[in-house]
Amino acid sequence: MAFRASILTLYPDMFPGPLGTSLAGRALDQGTWSLEAKNIRDFATDKHRSVDDTPAGGGAGMVLRPDVLAAALDSVADGRPMLALTPRGAPLSQQRVRELAAGEGVILLCGRFEGFDERIFEARGLEPVSIGDYVLSGGELGAMVILDACVRLLPGVMGAASSGEEESFEAGLLEYPHYTRPVQWEGRTIPEVLRSGDHAKIAAWRHAKAVEDTRLRRPDLIERHGGASQAPPSGARRRDTKAKDK
Ligand code: SAH
Repeated sequence: MAFRASILTLYPDMFPGPLGTSLAGRALDQGTWSLEAKNIRDFATDKHRSVDDTPAGGGAGMVLRPDVLAAALDSVADGRPMLALTPRGAPLSQQRVRELAAGEGVILLCGRFEGFDERIFEARGLEPVSIGDYVLSGGELGAMVILDACVRLLPGVMGAASSGEEESFEAGLLEYPHYTRPVQWEGRTIPEVLRSGDHAKIAAWRHAKAVEDTRLRRPDLIERHGGASQAPPSGARRRDTKAKDK
């Protein structure tokens, strides 16, 4: 069964947007997944079709009303996980993406203004999700990020070439760096080891690079995984993990 995505947003015209091109777009055309974008405003009940109101306790901006959000959510709820985009959420992880991609689909609630009335989270069992430590003007780009990450994992979308198993985050590490022709470019050379044809040596070099780059750029990942997943991949000999090339 195809993966079904329902988006609740004040700007349904933003979809499919970038998800209509390339890998995700082709998969959408082929029916590997489906997308419906519903306008939250269609669930407003007053004559002004208002979806927001001023924050209780005062302060700047407007807050999305729980009654309107609930009506929108209830119109699509069918057991799929319901995620609400918010910088106050848990950061999206590749692990959560894998879980979502293995399911029937997702319902994504996009905020605007100051965000959602807090009561909606518990009342409808919403999972608060953030796509990073910065503030966007709306949840729509975040919803696209989640869907792009999920869709590429759906069976048949990436093709046999990439199982995704060696990719960044899968082993608690960033992926190793890639190179391609030309071998010589602006005085820079592809590391010799990658041209050696020695697969064990290449695997060891890549693992060492992955660890090195992760330590440098994302020490938080090393800490979180406690080094447990930093064993060299099978085929890589431990004494080779220091192998380096200039
Ligand atoms: N006042 C809120 C930010 C609101 S930004 C706060 O400080 O927490 C408006 C909307 O953009 C949010 O409701 C949310 O849906 C979306 N958004 C902004 N930053 C986001 C992020 N990092 N991850 C996911 N959604 C985000």
